[in-house]
Amino acid sequence: MALGQRLPEPGTPESEALLAELQAILQQQSIYSVYQPIVSLETGAVFGYEALTRGPQGSALQRPDLLFGFAENCGHLYTLDRLARERAIAGARLASRQQLLFINISSAIIYDPHFVPGQTMELLQRYGLEPHNVVFEITERSSIEDFRVAKKILEHYRKQGYRIAIDDAGAGYSSLQAIAELHPDFIKVDKSLIENIHQDKIKECILETFVTFAQKMNISLIAEGIERLDELTKLIRMGVQYAQGYLLAMPSREPAELPAELAEHIAQHRKAAAANGYWTIGDLATPIRTFDAKTLISEVASYFKEKPDAQAAVIVTDGRPVGLMMRERLFQQLAGQYGFSLFWHRTIDHIMDREPLIVDAALSVERASQLATSRSIHNLYDLVIVSREGRMAGVASIRAILETITNIRMETARVANPLTGLPGNQQINRELSKRLLEGKTFSVIYIDLDYFKWFNDRFGFHKGDQLIQFTADVVQQSIAMCGTPYDFVGHVGGDDFIVMAAGADAVPLCAEIIRRFELGVPMFYDGEEFHYVEDRHGNRIENGGVTLSLAHLACAGGASVTQEHISQASAALKKKAKALRGSVYVTSRVGAGISSYA
Ligand code: C2E
Ligand code: CA
Ligand code: CA
Repeated sequence: MALGQRLPEPGTPESEALLAELQAILQQQSIYSVYQPIVSLETGAVFGYEALTRGPQGSALQRPDLLFGFAENCGHLYTLDRLARERAIAGARLASRQQLLFINISSAIIYDPHFVPGQTMELLQRYGLEPHNVVFEITERSSIEDFRVAKKILEHYRKQGYRIAIDDAGAGYSSLQAIAELHPDFIKVDKSLIENIHQDKIKECILETFVTFAQKMNISLIAEGIERLDELTKLIRMGVQYAQGYLLAMPSREPAELPAELAEHIAQHRKAAAANGYWTIGDLATPIRTFDAKTLISEVASYFKEKPDAQAAVIVTDGRPVGLMMRERLFQQLAGQYGFSLFWHRTIDHIMDREPLIVDAALSVERASQLATSRSIHNLYDLVIVSREGRMAGVASIRAILETITNIRMETARVANPLTGLPGNQQINRELSKRLLEGKTFSVIYIDLDYFKWFNDRFGFHKGDQLIQFTADVVQQSIAMCGTPYDFVGHVGGDDFIVMAAGADAVPLCAEIIRRFELGVPMFYDGEEFHYVEDRHGNRIENGGVTLSLAHLACAGGASVTQEHISQASAALKKKAKALRGSVYVTSRVGAGISSYA
């Protein structure tokens, strides 16, 4: 965060005045907390609130970065941090027992012996909260010196039900070590990585690594600092679980809810992602019998004897899965030489599998399958445990997972173009009617290769196929560069493609497609040079080789435009583009309300 204000040098009169101010703040306890919602991108519901401290209004120490920075410089950090924590808990009004309160703590504070056991616990009780409602956010801005000690302390608090978040992941100072060493329950991705994520391929790749990593480690990801709708949409499509930012809600004294349109937007995009064959492992989860970790082995064995169909049971502690007991393995253990007498009166946690595969319900079926099938041969077919926010949600069998994957692949293959894997006509029509129904202005771009027949005859089908694939890549890369997350690419067939993009202006996108195509197409000529090509009728045409014709149609939102209008207007437009030499784009519009700029 850039400091608009700087802290004065120690020893100066300004510094002395500020110290007096800080002492007054601590003495009068005049700080308070504001709360910013953290929203689930699966449901659009508020999942928790982050408490952010404010100094008294009008004070030079109103901003928390200045307040905490200054307190640290002059040795008052512990006192301030404790007061801030007290205020955060006292002012929080959680709507339900499931909601979480995220509290920032300076990393130095975890070494304070009074930190949790005495004070925080007492406070929580006073305000009707429990440790499992609280997540401590730790930032590495002031570096953690000894991870071994930090880890031990945090483990201790964790056992009492508190959870840990690593704050500002992906920011300048490295939080990767903290993630690796402390095994947090949440990772909060810094605003610097989220800003313009929809337009920045590199940020997208970095965040993707975080998403995959977090899923694999069963850590929840929270994206911070969302200010734009495009960023939000991109995050939903990328499978990020939670989000926070001014777009969703500002920090305020009264815990705010999400505006209804935004909740609706989130739900819609989740559905859109699902319609594109996006299945989560949560969709496959089925219920299963659970036993507490302290249940006697004999009791679990009796259950399996009574239920010959039960393949396994999940072992839980306080509703959280901690182990898996497969039927076969239980009886194998009991059948051993001393098995029966040795185990019968012990508790199930002695013989359960303590490291079963536990995945979050939001994980894609594809990822879950990768994780499940990379297990060792002796537990390859064990059930996969599905959790939601760390709590038991069900199990999925390997068979259900593999069947779903096969179905998704078959469905995609059935409707996609076999050469490029892009959506085919059925999906193109569905997308077009969806956009017309939505009633928002959008662009359709028809993309067609010129003299493709000549190229095919001269260089062979194989090269022809490669050129088509190259064109498909060019279009997709151009959209990644200057399109939006809602843009759609379809393969009509042969050398025809279609793009549907948000808004009426597609000039930058068309220009990028042509630029990339022209840059790459020479490598398909095997070093030969051309002065003419042949059209469909064998007539020689002066041209340097294969070119692209783009016909861009801006379609006005509202009820006035139909599929019929679009196909009529586009036929004329495509002709116009074809008649022009070289790689070109032409523009026109259908429907009222869009000014022509062709
Ligand atoms: P942080 O923990 O990273 O908190 C997020 C900051 O980003 C907050 O600033 C929040 O108001 C701001 N923010 C949220 N959404 C957006 C957005 O969409 N765009 C932009 N530009 N900013 C957004 P705030 O409240 O000024 O806090 C600044 C920092 O002060 C915090 O960064 C945190 O490190 C520290 N801090 C705040 N309260 C406490 C506290 O009680 N204890 C401790 N130890 N540190 C605190
Ligand atoms: Ca924070
Ligand atoms: Ca942060």
